[in-house]
Amino acid sequence: MNLRINSFFIASCILLFTACNNDKKKQEEVSLIPEAKAYQTQIDGKQTDLYVISNKSGMQAAFTNYGGRITSLLVPDQKGKLTDVVIGFDSVSQFVKSSEAYFGATIGRYGNRIAKGKFKLEGKDYQLTINNGVNTLHGGTVGYQAVMWDGKKVGDSAVVFTYLSKDGEQGFPGNLNVKVTYTLTAKNELKMDYEATTDKATVVNLTNHAYFNLNGSGTGTINNHLVQINADKYTPVDSTLIPTGINESVKGTPFDFTTPQTIGSRVDEKNVQLINGKGYDHNFVLNAATSGLTKAATVTGDKSGIVMTIYTQEPGLQFYGGNFMKGKNKMKRGSADEFRTAFCMETQHFPDSPNQPSFPSTELKPGQVYKTQSVYQFSVK
Ligand code: BGC
Repeated sequence: MNLRINSFFIASCILLFTACNNDKKKQEEVSLIPEAKAYQTQIDGKQTDLYVISNKSGMQAAFTNYGGRITSLLVPDQKGKLTDVVIGFDSVSQFVKSSEAYFGATIGRYGNRIAKGKFKLEGKDYQLTINNGVNTLHGGTVGYQAVMWDGKKVGDSAVVFTYLSKDGEQGFPGNLNVKVTYTLTAKNELKMDYEATTDKATVVNLTNHAYFNLNGSGTGTINNHLVQINADKYTPVDSTLIPTGINESVKGTPFDFTTPQTIGSRVDEKNVQLINGKGYDHNFVLNAATSGLTKAATVTGDKSGIVMTIYTQEPGLQFYGGNFMKGKNKMKRGSADEFRTAFCMETQHFPDSPNQPSFPSTELKPGQVYKTQSVYQFSVK
């Protein structure tokens, strides 16, 4: 009898303990996504919000329509623990204050640099706003990271952002209708589908600017992350980070990531390109797949075992190693955006393509549809 009571008691305790622990785990997971309230305000007369999506295996992502930004991305680590791998803030107002760092943002109309903000199209000269030394970076003074998009959740796993970029905005010709769909798939992928149409010839280069730390945002340096990039060539730059126009082989240079290398192992070498970029801030010429998406790169978090594989239809990948992060911003969970504590992998056409006839063209004409897909896939090693 006593034995029966005792086993019953022990079994009940175990059940209770497991239930409490599961609840605690759930609470921890839930609190990794900031409260929606902190994202609900008016900007430029439009309502901002937080859009949370998930897939069947428990991956979650949050977005805001201010700048079409990813604000949180929760993926399982080696032990199955959900880890937030993107840098961001607890509220939309902090994104507004730091808009020039492009945290998590959808970038346009032209991702990366255009030399002196000038280009010629169909015989006409255009002058863009200048916001990066003598050049235009990521679409000018007020790029797509700092405008209000219309946001709409589609089912549990997708969010669509649309934006009308008016003729003459930041100096670009043509009314450009832009649509970006972010989807979490059953294969633990964040899929990004970009679409745009124009009513005048223009140039377009859309990308996403999420800052990743695969050990978890706010966990320190990315120096020990392992990176492999599927590129035999890259586009070296001048001191203002404009490509010289000659694609160079990565062989024998610190830009050779054809085999896995840690970010930190060569980043401080006395190499003129690393000096120009203050570290890695370069466009890699991807070895294009003969069909389907190109496997662009793989990055592994040394502590979490989280592996991010990047696929794209774009010809290039800007690997930016967080060299301009200065610890000025207080991020989620109290950390700061310290030097090289996150990296970006921006799938894109090459920088300054409108002025570089040998680069793949970024022109879009009326009647054509700009359509491109990139994917960040997560797994563990
Ligand atoms: C550029 C960096 C720039 C950063 C701003 C990157 O895409 O390549 O040079 O400082 O964006 O966040």
